[in-house]
Formats: sequence, C-alpha cells, structure tokens
Amino acid sequence: MTATATRVLVLNSGSSSLKYQLLDMTDATRLAVGLVERIGEETSRLSHTPLAAGGDKRETEGPIADHEAALKAVGAELTADGLGLDSPELAAIGHRVVHGGLEFTEPTVIDDAVLKEIERLVPVAPLHNPANLTGIRTARALRPDLPQVAVFDTAFHTTMPEHAARYAIDVATADAHRIRRYGFHGTSHAYVSRKTAELLGKDPAEVNVIVLHLGNGASASAVAGGRCVDTSMGLTPLEGLVMGTRSGDIDPAVTFHLKRVAGMSEDEVDVLLNKKSGLIGLCGDNDMREIRRRIDEGDERAALAFDIYIHRLKKYIGAYSAVLGRVDAVAFTAGVGENAAPVREAAVAGLEEMGLAVDASLNAVRSGEPRLISPEYARVAVAVVPTDEELEIAQQTYALVSA
Ligand code: ADP
Repeated sequence: MTATATRVLVLNSGSSSLKYQLLDMTDATRLAVGLVERIGEETSRLSHTPLAAGGDKRETEGPIADHEAALKAVGAELTADGLGLDSPELAAIGHRVVHGGLEFTEPTVIDDAVLKEIERLVPVAPLHNPANLTGIRTARALRPDLPQVAVFDTAFHTTMPEHAARYAIDVATADAHRIRRYGFHGTSHAYVSRKTAELLGKDPAEVNVIVLHLGNGASASAVAGGRCVDTSMGLTPLEGLVMGTRSGDIDPAVTFHLKRVAGMSEDEVDVLLNKKSGLIGLCGDNDMREIRRRIDEGDERAALAFDIYIHRLKKYIGAYSAVLGRVDAVAFTAGVGENAAPVREAAVAGLEEMGLAVDASLNAVRSGEPRLISPEYARVAVAVVPTDEELEIAQQTYALVSA
C-alpha cells in the first residue's frame, strides 16, 4: 500500500447481485455507491451514483453474464468518474462474508488458506458463502496485487458464551456437524452498539445495550460492555424475530409435521419458512410501510401480523434484559427500526416497569442521525441509530491494511 492509498472498495456479493461502495478513509466519505442486480439474466441492471463528482445516478440495463463481468462493469463506471479500480489510491477491497464460523473472530486478510476455510463453511451457509466467494475470487483476479479483506457477519457474535451459543441437543451430533448458534448481522450489531455508547457519551465497555436490527431480515442482540453475549439468529438466519419473509422461532416439530402430514419436501419446507413466512406469510406484505397503510384502513390481517411481529420483539427485549441484568439502552436500527415509529412505540409500550418508554414527539422525528427517543425520566435510553455496515466494513478493512 502506498502512502497515498486511502480508498477502500466494499463489496457485498449475493448470488445474483453485487453491491458496492467506494470510500475515502481520510474522512470516511463515500465517493461512489451502486448495485448490479439480476446478474446472469438478460435484464441485468447496473445503477451507479458518483457521489464525489456530485453526479446523478446512472442506470444501464442489459445482460451481465457473471460476477466477473459485473465487477468489470462497475470498474468501468468508476473509471469514468476518475476512480478506477487500477488507481494507486485504492488501498484495499473489503468483502462482506456472511459465515465465518468459529474460525474467524476478526476481519482477515484473504489468502489461499482463508479462501479454503470460507469454502469449508459452505455447508453451514449454502446460500451466502458461495456468492461471497465468487465476489472475492473475481476481485482477486482483477487486482491480485491488492490486499483483500474478509469481514464476517458472524465475527461479532463469536464472544457469545457457550451457554448462549449451544443448542440443547446431543453434543456429539452437534459438534460433528458444527451445529450451534452463530448469529448474523454482526457488523451492524457491532457498529450500532458502539454508536449507541457514543450517543450516551460513554465508553462501550461501560454500557449494556440491546440492539434491534429490524430490516427485511431482523435480529436482536444483547451486548454487555461492547461484547455480544446473545443474539437471536442461530445456525442460520432463520431463528429469532419475525422477519419480512422468515418465521423466526418455531417449534422444530412443525417441520416434521409439514413433511409427514402435509407431504412437503425438504426444499418446500425450507422455502416456506425462509421465503413465505414472517410478515409476508401472515398478511401478504413484507414492507412495513404497506402494512401500516393497511392497518390504517382497518385491515385485520395486517393488524394481526403487526401484533405478532411486536409480541416477538417484546419477548426478546424481556429476555435480553434478563440476560444483561442491567440495560442502559435499547437501540433500533435498519429499515424498519430507523423508519417505523409505530414499531418502536409498540415494542416498548407497557414496559415502563422495566424503565422503558418512548417520547411520542421525539419518536415522530425523522432524521438520519443517531438520536434518543426516550423521555428524560426513563431509566433506560431508547435510541434510533442508523446502521452503516459498509462504513464498518471499510473501517475494519482500512485499519487492518494500514496497521
Ligand atoms: P435489508 O437490508 O434486510 O434488505 P433494510 O434494512 O433495507 O433491509 O429494510 C428494508 C425494510 O425496511 C423494508 O422491507 C420495509 O419494511 C422497511 N422500511 C423501509 N422504509 C420504511 C419506512 N419509511 N417506514 C416503515 N418501514 C420502512
């Protein structure tokens, strides 16, 4: 890395998508952001916004065959803005990697051995790790000289104690198949819990925070003094809260029942629980805006879906209050947590005895800044803290390569 190399490209590769952000780490500004969708189809689309140049979003449609072609197309867009991938100012590429198992507790510079290890974890993350690997291989082929760093979604949760991470099943079977609770969204939980401490004017080591990451996927975590001690997602992202399309916690016997009595196949059950459950399964919509609109019109299915969503959220707030013993703050983040005031209000309603309350006028404020929404008298701070996984990945990547 040269002394002038201060840019980090963050890549988040999905099975048919590639999200990217280019940041300058001297002041953590975003130079460009974009997304390639429907990779491998005829109607692939690249949308690119050159923020540094103050330019408008550019969109191009047409077939992009694979991730290599996608990254080349992104490179061409960046080159057009004078930010090309061949620039000596590029210090590193930071990759979001979903599953790091127990092996990866920190961001890690990628070499062949690391690649092999991520590959070994494919059986526990069959949907995500292969796509992440494709992104890494493509980027390495394009810039073999550049440090590439993997930042793992599971890393922040590796501090969970065994009694929180283990399922109460036969130990030998669990160990043979690496079955345990790993947790996901770790980059967000790390960032938001730290920002929440900052908002309170405290050192992260001094505060206990419950983080509620409520996006389309949703997870809660209990963070004690900056370390994760429990989280709601498990072996896979299916466990825990009610999500946009996932059921969250469910009696596992439901799956036997679906197979034995309803005659469904393994794959059908998988699709049912991951794609056709949660809010969409309950009421046909997974967007909280649409659900609130329907509730306002008197739609009972939407109202019940909302109540089920809130009930589960409350149970986790209660459970994690017990796990932590003392709670200093509850932080809401991600699409729903940052934007849906009715969700925040309902999740905390009736928890005054636990020191939790929301101030209606503070809760109604819309802002992109971290903020408190609890009244002054409340014992526990309730906060809205916008998450920024890309910035966290860029910072971790840059810290590692510039050390
Ligand atoms: P993910 O990264 O998991 O795809 P996000 O964190 O972007 O999800 O959250 C997306 C969800 O946020 C949407 O499905 C929608 O339910 C919710 N959302 C976004 N904007 C709003 C809003 N203004 N009001 C309520 N909910 C919103």
